[in-house]
Amino acid sequence: MQKHILVVEDEPAIRDMLAYALRKGDFAPLLAGDAREAQVRIAERIPDLILLDWMLPGGSGLELARRWRRDALTRDIPIIMLTARGEENDRVSGLEAGVDDYVVKPFSTRELLARIRAVLRRSRDDDDDGSVKIGALAIDGAAHRVFATIDGTPQPIPMGPTEYRLLHYFMTHADRVQTRAQLLDQVWGGSVYVEERTVDVHIRRLRKTLEPHGLDAMVQTVRGAGYRFSGAT
Ligand code: CA
Repeated sequence: MQKHILVVEDEPAIRDMLAYALRKGDFAPLLAGDAREAQVRIAERIPDLILLDWMLPGGSGLELARRWRRDALTRDIPIIMLTARGEENDRVSGLEAGVDDYVVKPFSTRELLARIRAVLRRSRDDDDDGSVKIGALAIDGAAHRVFATIDGTPQPIPMGPTEYRLLHYFMTHADRVQTRAQLLDQVWGGSVYVEERTVDVHIRRLRKTLEPHGLDAMVQTVRGAGYRFSGAT
């Protein structure tokens, strides 16, 4: 089935170029020129991915990305930001806002389509029952169990409920930088008062659990930002 890609871009020429490129890549583009139109498109149909321009009239794309990440309806839609600026600061603030990837203008159609496919592949690994597999690590969502497959044999990895929730969140949001505040919000829930260093304690426990299987390096520290789970270690 064709994937629907929402394009949020105020410049008509670039929007048309993106729509053309997406059709060429066998995607179905949905088009919006600003935040308001984007909300209308999302209400009509939940897109499989959003291409979001950094500079939009009446607010930055970054604010929009933050808002979508807070909303249960749009929380899990992958977002790729289009930016004319390549500065590291912008990337970090975008990643903290929950953006999945960046494409810096000017970009080739081939590069854009490759990024879209990579981000879609990543988000598809998350099955409906909560099962997810990255590299040698797998979660059986129905059984609430974690396995490491070493030399073709799946070995169960026992872990506490918080480590399980943390790992599950990491694996369903792989390759994204997660701030401590985001992890507290998503894994512990916003209602409970927990200090940010609690996150560090559970990260340490999770790594210790994965260590005997040689998988602890999948939980990566991102200096000055937070943590990231990655299958590419
Ligand atoms: Ca723009």
